[in-house]
Amino acid sequence: MGLKFFNTLTRSVEEFTPLDPAGHKAGIYCCGPTVHDVAHIGNFRTFVFADLVRRYLQFKGYAVTHVMNITDVEDKIIRRVRESGISLREYTGKYESAFLEDLQTLGCLRPHQMPRATEHIGEIISLIERLIERGIAYKAADGSVYFSIEKHRGSGRQYGQLVKLNFDELRPGERVSNDEYAKESLADFALWKARAPEDGEVFWPSPWGEGRPGWHIECSAMSMKILGPSFDIHLGGEDLIFPHHEDEIAQSEGAGLQPPGERFVKYWLHGAHLMVEGKKMSKSLGNFFTLRDLLAKGFTGREIRYLLLTAHYRETFNFTLEGLTAARTSLARLDECLAKLRAVAGNATAAADAGLAEGFSAALDDDLNVSAAWGGVFDWVRDANRLLTDNQFTAALAAAALAAWQRIDSVFGIGEKADAEVPAEIAALLEQREAARKARNFSRADAIRAELNAQGWTIEDTSKGPRLKRL
Ligand SMILES: [Zn+2]
Repeated sequence: MGLKFFNTLTRSVEEFTPLDPAGHKAGIYCCGPTVHDVAHIGNFRTFVFADLVRRYLQFKGYAVTHVMNITDVEDKIIRRVRESGISLREYTGKYESAFLEDLQTLGCLRPHQMPRATEHIGEIISLIERLIERGIAYKAADGSVYFSIEKHRGSGRQYGQLVKLNFDELRPGERVSNDEYAKESLADFALWKARAPEDGEVFWPSPWGEGRPGWHIECSAMSMKILGPSFDIHLGGEDLIFPHHEDEIAQSEGAGLQPPGERFVKYWLHGAHLMVEGKKMSKSLGNFFTLRDLLAKGFTGREIRYLLLTAHYRETFNFTLEGLTAARTSLARLDECLAKLRAVAGNATAAADAGLAEGFSAALDDDLNVSAAWGGVFDWVRDANRLLTDNQFTAALAAAALAAWQRIDSVFGIGEKADAEVPAEIAALLEQREAARKARNFSRADAIRAELNAQGWTIEDTSKGPRLKRL
């Protein structure tokens, strides 16, 4: 059975066939963060989902190029830059670093390319120029440039591919300069925004005067530059379907750079909203969590990742602190089983046992059915525990089981148990070694290191002091 995704473009589940004629390469673009603040857990649901898609395509053997942009110029950022009095780059750099750190805490692989909007102003201007040449964008009196929905439709193209729109409400000549607007205020949208006094020092020269790009055009310019005018998968949260993604299609297909018969994007995948404690996340309700808030409560990135990966991406998911505690219990069950298997396997190596990966692939091929995949993992844990109790695992069988887990964990990215969960007796040995080193009793320190190695642990000396790692 092949891999299938629900494509928002066709509103149906479709078999994934990459555009690459050799069927080998796959391109993914995910709308990245707007670096005006620290990202919240709802944002991270989308990025963990993108990471799952990328890892699973790699598991299936595709050579994936994963692109995620950094929106480092837009209204909110400009307002904060003005308030803080520091430069744009200084301001956004701080939140970009925080974002990358959070991504790592959540076990997400770094996208292969992370283009910044401010470093693609030339590409953005060229794309707008092309839209003007083709008669579907125009300069307004204030020096801003707008996309004409009427002209676009007049050229035989469809506006409203991802959502149904009521064009009776569209009044020619109306325009919207804000990047975010509802379907009801359907109107020509801004590609280039003329410099306003409140923009301060944030502006670039252009053929239409000083100004800055609109948000939607950034993604069209950067995705097509890196992945080509036609690529496989575009991902994002469902809140971006309209207007952002609809506008990306209009701009990219309006520029007419695709080969005949090809679309800008073949598969559009959208992740559903995250509720927190049963409600829409909001600061006033006290259920607004950044990743850092959850870490401060004592949860780990691994537990949060696991919880986010238990729900199907198209289901609205209710994220709760109770759910995180349950995630900790589930992971402890898994870890305990893996530790026992490791003890039996010793130094043995073996090819992965096929059973676990087969069930896993069948589940994820089905539009990334992670719940079914985890169901299979915990059935496997139950069966392994039974065999372990009955002493039915040989070293080779245990090694094959561990290799099977590692294979599917290349997709789940749950990884090893955190260092904080080092068994007490192992932690005590490390302390004894440190004491021996301080007392300059190096032969004793070496003996303890050897003892730790024999028990399957190694010591890594880091800038924050020694830490234990499984061999
Ligand atoms: Zn985007």
